[in-house]
Amino acid sequence: MLEARDITISYNDRVAVSNVTLTLNAGEITAVIGPNGAGKSTLLRSLNGQIARASGAVMLDGHLIEKYSRRTIGRRIAVVAQEAELRFPVTVLEFILGGRFAWGPNSGWGWETEQDLRVAEEVLAETELTELSGRLMNELSGGERQRAVLARALATEASVLLLDEPTANLDLSHQATLLALVRNRCDKRQAAALVVTHDLNLAAQFADRILLMKNGEALRSGKPAEVLTPQLLKQVFEVEVLVDAHPITGAPRVTPIAFQRAGENPGETT
Ligand code: ADP
Repeated sequence: MLEARDITISYNDRVAVSNVTLTLNAGEITAVIGPNGAGKSTLLRSLNGQIARASGAVMLDGHLIEKYSRRTIGRRIAVVAQEAELRFPVTVLEFILGGRFAWGPNSGWGWETEQDLRVAEEVLAETELTELSGRLMNELSGGERQRAVLARALATEASVLLLDEPTANLDLSHQATLLALVRNRCDKRQAAALVVTHDLNLAAQFADRILLMKNGEALRSGKPAEVLTPQLLKQVFEVEVLVDAHPITGAPRVTPIAFQRAGENPGETT
């Protein structure tokens, strides 16, 4: 559906993404992991044509992304950026309707059609925000706000979702809820999602494929079990980890091995 072919992106002379190839398939979640500065956000932002490439191609349904109008791209690809534009006084419903702007001059906030309202209502129900639809965005908890941001992306009805750390600052249950909503969209509507995350276990649980990046390069791409190996994680994150199988889901489970404090002997009993 969306494909990056051998793309390289530079900021001035500094290469941020180097020869990365990636395919987002319908019905699949791809997680992008890697240390800070690895190029994950830059890669994500290049996938809807926001950032110019030095070389390589981004293809949407087999055509160069530059061949599409911004409006068409807005209908096909929804982006949830890290610095979500959140704290201004609009209601949850108004905020979600903002996701409809790409549907035409008569869509979006202030100009919504019946179809826009129908979609917004569906999305409110899907994200369990119906009761909060009249609440101001800046009066929501962090978890509710993140859900509203995702709801707006879902309201675009885009078939490609690009999410940059959507679960940052969320507690355990809200993290899982958010990714379950993305999973649901991929399963039910054959959407393709890319999720940048620092949470390796969440990636293991929800992603079909994982792309591991370091220094702008794609070091490995594959199923979670192929990418989340102690060797690769040590090489990339410079920390020893234990990888075993989650006792319930069977997904790889990554546990950093605690650093021993000087003078401590783990075998000693007192
Ligand atoms: P990540 O998302 O993995 O943390 P980024 O894509 O944000 O990585 O950054 C990759 C590299 O590009 C880093 O070295 C970062 O400093 C640099 N970079 C990111 N955004 C800009 C920018 N707007 N201008 C110049 N350099 C940037």
